[in-house]
Amino acid sequence: MDQKPLQKSILILTTGGTIVCAKSDGGLYPYYQTADLLKCIQPCNKQHRISGKKVMNIDSSNMTPQYWLTIAQAIAADYEEYDGFVITHGTDTMAYTAAALTYILSGLIKPVIITGAQYSIVDSETDAIQNLNDALCFASEELEGVFIAFDGKLINGTRAVKTKTRSYDAFRSVNYPPVAAIKHNRISYNQSVCTHFQKQQHKRPQSLQPASYIEEKIFVLKLFPGLNPTIFEYLLQNMHGVIIESYGTGGVTSEILDIASRVHELTAAGIAVVVTTQCLQEGVTPQQYAVGRALPLDKIIYGKDMNTEALVPKLMWALGKTTEQAEVKQLMETSVQDDILANPEQVYL
Ligand code: ASP
Repeated sequence: MDQKPLQKSILILTTGGTIVCAKSDGGLYPYYQTADLLKCIQPCNKQHRISGKKVMNIDSSNMTPQYWLTIAQAIAADYEEYDGFVITHGTDTMAYTAAALTYILSGLIKPVIITGAQYSIVDSETDAIQNLNDALCFASEELEGVFIAFDGKLINGTRAVKTKTRSYDAFRSVNYPPVAAIKHNRISYNQSVCTHFQKQQHKRPQSLQPASYIEEKIFVLKLFPGLNPTIFEYLLQNMHGVIIESYGTGGVTSEILDIASRVHELTAAGIAVVVTTQCLQEGVTPQQYAVGRALPLDKIIYGKDMNTEALVPKLMWALGKTTEQAEVKQLMETSVQDDILANPEQVYL
């Protein structure tokens, strides 16, 4: 086995977020620059070579799928130069970006660690410095994949959900354990999953081949009592993919508004329909109740135990690769970086 080199090269790519926010009469806005972030770091290993580059400086509420491609291109441009990458990002859409980069960065065999803060680097209560330093520690590990480092936890990039608006522990790892914890620069890995992310030294080196196109015409439809059926006319005319957040294990309205026949119409028109759940944990099994069984079960894509933050970019990525319905279903239902653990019927029933 190769020796782990002592000195690592790490690139910090900055994209904005609270971590670099300043106060103004108009509210918090991204102001501080990459150089300001670089001044705050106290790397876990002083021998590491750390550089920084600005990719954008936005509130992550303004993140777009095109910006995901821009971030992926920034990593690709310097991929050979560095051992690991840290991306600073706003927390509001960080989970979407983490999942998006997982799908877009095909062939990734280095760590990409996304972090940010609930309080700006200039705030006396800031969590920015701790999160940034933790992210740098993880970026110098022999890991491969995209992760979120936040409040002392390393979360699989396909499993993060922001569940708190103010507290330091803003993110939860859903339907999957955190990959590692870190305290005072000491990392403890979760032995049940960490091997899935360890660099495979024997593997032939792969080249990074980021996706260059993703399909943005998708929609997330959260069911609620009283949903107006006219939305389906719009979806039919305008979308290539629809993610339905059903109730509980996969229940959909069957009286007054017959969702199943609407889904039949969508799939017959070649639109990819994913059925997931509004519940955060334990995944979806639409065939459990009579109200779910009327769905075209052979045509719909099962959201399984994936979260919406992963399903959105995964559907965009899959539709960007192919328009063949069966192929989209196959791509969506195939696990990427453990975004699906197992068949939910086996795991959760
Ligand atoms: N609105 C900010 C953002 O997502 C929130 C944060 O970074 O915590 O950019």
